[in-house]
Amino acid sequence: MTQIYLQELIAAKEAVAKAASLCKEAQTDLKSIGSLDKEDKSPVTIADFGAQALVLNSLAKAFPNVPATGEEDASDLLKPENAKMLEQIIKRVGKVEPGLDKDSIIAAIERGSHPGGPQGRFWTLDPIDGTKGFLRGDQYAIALGLIEGGEVIVGVLGCPNLPVDPSDPNGERGCLLFASKGQGAYQSPLDDLSIENPITCDQISEPAEAVFCESVESGHTAHGRSAKILEAFDSKSTPFRMDSQCKYAAVSRGQASIYLRLPTRPGYEEKIWDHAAGCLILTESGGRVSDTFGKPLDFSLGQTLKNNKGVIATTGQVFEPVLKAVLNSV
Ligand code: AMP
Ligand code: MG
Repeated sequence: MTQIYLQELIAAKEAVAKAASLCKEAQTDLKSIGSLDKEDKSPVTIADFGAQALVLNSLAKAFPNVPATGEEDASDLLKPENAKMLEQIIKRVGKVEPGLDKDSIIAAIERGSHPGGPQGRFWTLDPIDGTKGFLRGDQYAIALGLIEGGEVIVGVLGCPNLPVDPSDPNGERGCLLFASKGQGAYQSPLDDLSIENPITCDQISEPAEAVFCESVESGHTAHGRSAKILEAFDSKSTPFRMDSQCKYAAVSRGQASIYLRLPTRPGYEEKIWDHAAGCLILTESGGRVSDTFGKPLDFSLGQTLKNNKGVIATTGQVFEPVLKAVLNSV
């Protein structure tokens, strides 16, 4: 187990595990889950808000002076027409963290407003990454990163639906993957965080043999372009599609070797909370991450990866040929 950033890791893992228990229960009860459409038309549910409240409340207790940037903000929740939704959030959060009242929940959600940037330390949180997957009953992740001086130093991914043993897809589900900079990456079953198994990428050296994964949503990655890249490799892989940073988890633990996120529209800037945790965990498992031009992801520029376009995330072995193929596919 790692020693550097130990207190930060302990707090981050506990916070994510609490949020995972709320989300897990909520996903078994999707019919009664209220959701809103945000300005960008993406959905946000009571579980997104509840998870953000639990994580940021926990972190505020452990590290009161470290700010956070979270995907959700509470302004919509305070509108009178959403009073019922707020009530549901208070009820579900209270089941995990008894005693958290309405004002503390709103305050915790609103803690996530830090603008990011190159200075100091801050947490970055996607309380439910892959909300569309969550609503379909598929994969999603609670994604938490700690950034210092523009670099990710701690990453935790709670993946309540991911099989603990990749070779037994129908077995026990619920994993927590975590890493701190320079200290390797680990996986615990979500229901027993005292078990910590090191994880590493696979050692396949031929891109043709590599298992490939990408987003389910065609609006989040260009499926047509990835199909052409696989064709150029003469790939034997049928791409498997999965929501959320579980894709980074899959490559980090040897279940897949390539994850591509190929831009679908020119102006889109990837959000730091969609990549911080996954990027560190994969790098610490022996993988490599860059944008589609081979540039490292730059987490120092605010809430988005302004200087990057798309993402290439692979094992160390296949990175160079995959980057070349992506560059040739433009
Ligand atoms: P995934 O589950 O891999 O499809 O990714 C989910 C994330 O995609 C969400 O958290 C959004 O922040 C992000 N997203 C939304 N629009 C886009 C887009 N046009 N391109 C890439 N990612 C997007
Ligand atoms: Mg997300």
